[in-house]
Amino acid sequence: MKTYDTIIIGAGPAGMMAAISSAFYGQKTLIVEKNRRLGKKLAGTGGGRCNVTNNGNLEDLLEGIPGNGRFLYSVFSQFDNHDIMRFFEDNGVKLKVEDHGRVFPTTDRSQTIIKALEMKMLELGVDIRTDTEVVSVKKNQDLFHIKTTNSDFHSGKLIVTTGGKSYPSTGSTGFGHEIARHFKMQVTDLEAAESPILTDFPHKALQGISLDDVTLSYGKHVITHDLLFTHFGLSGPAALRLSSFVSGGEVAELDFLPQMSIEELERYLVQQREKSIKNALKVLVPERVAEFLSSDFPEKVKHLSPSQNKILMDKLKRFPIQITGKMSLARSFVTKGGVDLKEINPKTLESKKVSGLHFAGEVLDINAHTGGFNITYCLCTGWVAGMVHY
Ligand SMILES: Cc1cc2nc3c(=O)[nH]c(=O)nc-3n(C[C@H](O)[C@H](O)[C@H](O)COP(=O)(O)OP(=O)(O)OC[C@H]3O[C@@H](n4cnc5c(N)ncnc54)[C@H](O)[C@@H]3O)c2cc1C
Repeated sequence: MKTYDTIIIGAGPAGMMAAISSAFYGQKTLIVEKNRRLGKKLAGTGGGRCNVTNNGNLEDLLEGIPGNGRFLYSVFSQFDNHDIMRFFEDNGVKLKVEDHGRVFPTTDRSQTIIKALEMKMLELGVDIRTDTEVVSVKKNQDLFHIKTTNSDFHSGKLIVTTGGKSYPSTGSTGFGHEIARHFKMQVTDLEAAESPILTDFPHKALQGISLDDVTLSYGKHVITHDLLFTHFGLSGPAALRLSSFVSGGEVAELDFLPQMSIEELERYLVQQREKSIKNALKVLVPERVAEFLSSDFPEKVKHLSPSQNKILMDKLKRFPIQITGKMSLARSFVTKGGVDLKEINPKTLESKKVSGLHFAGEVLDINAHTGGFNITYCLCTGWVAGMVHY
């Protein structure tokens, strides 16, 4: 049976970065992944372009990680989003920053990021075993005994990076939570986060349209970000963020033009009075939205009665959307809940109960917004878990 200094279970962003860090610190390292390929979930982020991090400052990062972001102060003081960018650029990956600080490879291909991580692991001598599922983990004296579908291994240090429970088809089925429970550690309740929203809105007319920087609100929750109309309702960052505050039965409001006040809009329409409503609106919103919003009115702006004018303003600034529910955990982007942080040393990510046992990435009770914030904390916790802390 082969013995390693460190074994890592799961080759998502957290696991691959943990392997790189571990080998960089001179540890004989093995990473075990049950899928045939590395980083299956990572490949699907940012619409297949891999939203590898976010270039904000510490405040922005903490705001982007609403689920226990403050636990990460110590992690970010050791390795943060700027270290991630430096890491990829030092390893030949050119990066670009898009709206809302989202960072992507200039190739617009996830494989660029995944290949860079794989090449670095190989360069540092990490043993990579794909198509190998870990089926059980035990600890005898000072050694972990890892049983897989192929062979068994020993190590002094074990890093669990098996992810959460969303999109289980990518491999994240909650095995890491079972490991934690096996060692009598607590796992907090698992829930869906960053969930697409189901609506009874007549979305056929708007299906496939994406809007930049609109405001979606429910009560005191006001979110200005991009929004996507889908065949089931709403997705995109604005909807995913609002999903934490709704469960179904609420009426949200959509402001198609948050950058214009009602007075500015009215002034604009007065200037456009000879035009058709649709043509006047299509300067401000996508053409299909202009068509949809103008459908119940007379053709020309000048023929709008005062009450019709008010209804049009309401549609543009306070469009009601009936929420009927949200996607299940399996179809949400992120898992809220995980290994209880009270049992984890925030400096090393080692279990306080079981020496040598570390956790990193989404298996922990941390959840973030899409936009690179999850991947950021996964890569950073991975690096810190892999380090040798002297
Ligand atoms: C469609 C989609 C889009 C997303 N977009 C974004 C985005 O734009 N920005 C953002 O910040 N976040 C995004 N996320 C979230 C982000 O992808 C995850 O938070 C991140 O991948 C979690 O990383 P991880 O390394 O902790 O776990 P994962 O990436 O889930 O990797 C865990 C790995 O462990 C392996 N594994 C599990 N059990 C075993 C076992 N028993 N033996 C061996 N291997 C095992 C799995 O096969 C898997 O490869 C998105 C998620 C989805 C689903």
